[in-house]
Amino acid sequence: MRLVTYQDGAYSRIGAVHGDRVITISDVAPDMQSLIEQGDAGLSRARAAVDAATSSIPLTTASLLAPIPRPRKNIVCLGMNYALHAYESARARGNPEVLPEYPVFFTKAPTSVIGPNAPVPLHDAETAQLDWEVELAFIIGRTARNVSESDALDYVFGYTILNDVSARELQQQHQQFFRAKSLDGCGPLGPWIVTADEIPDPHALGLRLRVNGETMQESSTNDQIFKIPTLISVLSHGMTLEAGDIISTGTPAGVGMGMHPQRWLKDGDVMEAEIDGIGILRNTVRKL
Ligand code: ZN
Repeated sequence: MRLVTYQDGAYSRIGAVHGDRVITISDVAPDMQSLIEQGDAGLSRARAAVDAATSSIPLTTASLLAPIPRPRKNIVCLGMNYALHAYESARARGNPEVLPEYPVFFTKAPTSVIGPNAPVPLHDAETAQLDWEVELAFIIGRTARNVSESDALDYVFGYTILNDVSARELQQQHQQFFRAKSLDGCGPLGPWIVTADEIPDPHALGLRLRVNGETMQESSTNDQIFKIPTLISVLSHGMTLEAGDIISTGTPAGVGMGMHPQRWLKDGDVMEAEIDGIGILRNTVRKL
């Protein structure tokens, strides 16, 4: 299933995308977090609601929000998880080109999350170096503690796209990624969650990002250094992962920081983050 959160008048509802229509599943759960917490039973009820539905709205007119509009925790992110991106980042900063020996985890504030088509603020008072990052993100489906790599994918509820918009000079200045990655509206997420049953191999997906139609990033999730089973296993050893937690798997080469000359986002730029089997997450940068 493709699960969405959408605005319906004063309310936000959850729904399932069926062809070019959205069918509400609000009777199953009031929001995505609650649905995820219901586990397999919730998904069964959602499928039954779709089968029994007598009405729907066109996807084109549905006002989609981020599938989880306000995550309960920071999004866990990965730095330097694609070799070519690790090298371009090192070159841009004059650092040696080495690959990480262990996953480089950092987090992104829940307040950064916005939905498809929502504007990304230019934040030109805080940064002159706003940059794009297409990423495969996954959502934890149930409590995970000390999970082995071989069992790890059983804990994934589904997959979505994160555009990990980043303020590069802040990343450098503060020496920690947190502020640079957490500016308001710099976490476009969506357009929906594709449930795990529809993506049996999350490491066989092409992903790319276009700015104003020009392809900047183009790679495969197979190029990730640390893959999802490793991430879940490492994180869940000593730190409990819970239903609804969002983990993003890092970005491939082709960010603006790595270009010659470097290229930064400007007012009006349209970003399209695309992952095969999931869809396209489109957001426009706006000087707000
Ligand atoms: Zn990133």
